[in-house]
Amino acid sequence: MSHIFLPDILVRVAKLPKREFEVSGETLSAALEHLCKEQKGLEKHLYHDNGIFKDHFLLTVDGELAQLDHSLDPASKVDIMLATSGGVADCSEQLSKNDIERYSRHITLPGVGRKGQHRLKASRTLIIGTGGLGSPVSLYLAAAGVGTLGLVDFDIVESSNLQRQIAHGISTLGLSKVESAKARLKDINPALNVETHNYALTTENALALICDYDVVIDGSDNFMTRYLVNDACVMLGKPLVYGAIHQFEGQASVFNHNSGPCYRCLFPKSPPPELAPNCSAGGVIGVLPGLIGMVQATEAVKLILGMGDSLSGRMLRYDALKMKFSEVRFSKRKDCAVCSETPAITELLAENAVCSTSGHSAPSFDPSVYISPKEFKELLECKDRKEAQVIDVREPGEIEICALPESIHIPLGDLEERYPELSIDSSHYVVCLGGSRAAQAVQFLQNKGFKKVYVVEGGLRRWAKEIEPSMPMY
Ligand code: ZN
Repeated sequence: MSHIFLPDILVRVAKLPKREFEVSGETLSAALEHLCKEQKGLEKHLYHDNGIFKDHFLLTVDGELAQLDHSLDPASKVDIMLATSGGVADCSEQLSKNDIERYSRHITLPGVGRKGQHRLKASRTLIIGTGGLGSPVSLYLAAAGVGTLGLVDFDIVESSNLQRQIAHGISTLGLSKVESAKARLKDINPALNVETHNYALTTENALALICDYDVVIDGSDNFMTRYLVNDACVMLGKPLVYGAIHQFEGQASVFNHNSGPCYRCLFPKSPPPELAPNCSAGGVIGVLPGLIGMVQATEAVKLILGMGDSLSGRMLRYDALKMKFSEVRFSKRKDCAVCSETPAITELLAENAVCSTSGHSAPSFDPSVYISPKEFKELLECKDRKEAQVIDVREPGEIEICALPESIHIPLGDLEERYPELSIDSSHYVVCLGGSRAAQAVQFLQNKGFKKVYVVEGGLRRWAKEIEPSMPMY
C-alpha cells in the first residue's frame, strides 16, 4: 500500500475526511484511480470530464516529480501538490510524454522549448466568431497546443459558410458553429479544453467573459462587436489580435499590447453602412480568411510565448489580387475615446458600440410600408400589377445568385443618381437580401416625394424560406 498525501486546500474543497490515505496500485495512475473510487468527491477535482488528469497538480513520488505511469512500490510516498502560479520552470515537467512527442517540433525550436510549450498549454485564448477567421485561427491554435480555447458565436452552420469556414463541414450543417467547431478541434487535439459560448457578445456579458482569458482574437464580422471587444479589452488590459477581410483584401494588427494603441486609435469611427458591406453582400474570396487567420494565430502564439515583435502599432494590409503586403504604422491617439489618459468611454454602453454593418438601425416606418412575402406573392400574381414595380437594391454580384423576375436592379449606392428613372406615381416594392437596405432605399425615396414605396419584409431570405424554397440563398 502506498501513501498518498493531498494538499490541504484540496482536502477542504473535496470534503475529504483526512489528507493522508493508504492506497494500492502498481502505478501512480492506478493508485489515484483507487483513491477516487474510495473518495467520491475527489475525482472531479483531479480529472477533467474526458478523464485527463488536471495539470495544475504536480505529482511526486518519494520527493521526485513523476508522471502518471510511474510505478509504485508498497513503501512509496506520493505527494499531490498544487502548482504555484509563479514559476514556469517548475511547471515545465507537467508536459506528458505524449505532449513532448506531439509538440517536439515546437520544443526543439530555439526560444520555445518545454517552457514555451507549457506556456501554450497553460494559456487561455478567446476567439470571437467561429466563421471565416475563427476557423483557421482555432484549428491552428488547437494543433499548436494552446490549452484552452473559448469560442463565441451564435450562428448555425449553413452551406454558404463552407466556401471558407474550414472548421465546419457537411456533417455539421445546421449545428451551432461553436459545437461544430468543438467537434473538429477535439478531433485534432483531444487534450484541448474547448469552452463554447453559444450567444452574442453584448455590453452586459463582454467584461465577464473576456476577463477569463489571456489573449482575445477578433474574428467578428461587424463593427458593433469590434468596438465592443476593443473597449472591453482596454478596460481589462487584455491584448487583442485583430483581423478583418473584405472581398480580396485583408487587414491584421495587435491592439492594446504593452500599452500600445487600440482599435479606436486606428479607426475612431466606423464607416457608414453603405461603405461597409458584409461578406454576404460584398463577397469574400474563400482563401483570404485563411491567410489573415494565420497571421492572427501567429500573433497569438507569439503573445503567449512572449517572443518576437508583435503587430502592435502596425496594421498589416494584404491585397490578394496584387499579391502584395503593405504596412500602416499608427500610434496611440492622445484623445482616444477609450485608451487615452482621460477616456470618454469608461463603461460598456450600447451607444458606444456604433452601428453594425448588417444590423444598423433601420428607419422606423408606419407598418403599412411593409409587405409580407405572402402578400407580395399575391400582388405579383395579380394581373393588373402594371403600376407596381419591383426594385432590387442589392449589389450586382448578389443578383448573380438569385433575383425575382421582372425586377429593376438599382444598387442602393446608385439610387441617388438613378432614382429619376422611376415614375413617382407608380408603386415601388423594394427588395434586398434581409430587408435593411430596402428600408434605407424606401426612406430615401420617401424623402424624394415618392408616396407609394414599400419594403418587402425580411427580403429575399424570407421570400426563399416562405415562398420559393428552390431559390439559391447565400
Ligand atoms: Zn485607443
